[in-house]
Amino acid sequence: MATVITGGSRGIGAATARRLAAAGHQVVISYRQHEPEPIEGVTAVQADVTNEADVERLFDIAEQVTAVVNNAGITSPLGPLKDARIEDLRRVIDVNVMGALLVARAAAQRMTEGAIVNVSSGAATTGSAGEYVHYAASKAAIDTLTIGLAKELAPQGIRVNAVAPGITRTEIHTLSGMPDRADRLATRIPLGRAGEPDEVAAAIAWLLGDEASYVTGAILRVGGGL
Ligand code: NAP
Repeated sequence: MATVITGGSRGIGAATARRLAAAGHQVVISYRQHEPEPIEGVTAVQADVTNEADVERLFDIAEQVTAVVNNAGITSPLGPLKDARIEDLRRVIDVNVMGALLVARAAAQRMTEGAIVNVSSGAATTGSAGEYVHYAASKAAIDTLTIGLAKELAPQGIRVNAVAPGITRTEIHTLSGMPDRADRLATRIPLGRAGEPDEVAAAIAWLLGDEASYVTGAILRVGGGL
């Protein structure tokens, strides 16, 4: 039985891999280009989520998959939509929506039991005006995917939920052109600080586990009140 985590080489995915491996999961992570440092109990596979063959290979290597964390995601430079470059719009939608759909489809084809957690964002409901509304829109798609797939897979007993992190201290902010965004925006956050990747990982682990046995179709905000 294996747990697949896409985008597990750093940030929220890596924190989730460490937490689940420590709890006894056989974890298989994917990454796109940065091969991660080895973690005990974790197998790393180079697999781009936007590539159907890569996603198939990832699930082939994992074999009997009972848990999936659909986490890989990107953003692009901050700014109003009118200034966004077409290649950034396409890339964000390709990775965040198409990639998540390919991973969710592979999970639906192969899983006979277990749970899926999609990684959305608080941006899906705030809209991220002036920053990246296309990214926010891509994450709203993840919320809808979660609600629909939860209903589709409920008859098989497979639960599908999402976490919606707020501003979390990871390297994703480098892609937005503001590497220290997590600390710069701390005053906007009701709890007064950015989240840590492991605080999101804890919510993911709970949603995957038996304690959440009656939770499906839920979108759990992990945003310090944001
Ligand atoms: P991160 O530190 O930038 O890590 C992103 C991970 O995704 C890396 O492992 C990266 O692999 C992988 N990845 C990127 N494109 C990929 C692709 N095409 N195929 C496979 N893997 C790919 O990001 P993070 O902050 O942990 O974000 C994880 C998830 O949380 C994302 O879905 C993000 O939208 C969401 N989120 C983050 C925040 C935040 O503030 N950090 C807030 C809300 C939601 P490489 O290392 O090989 O590039």
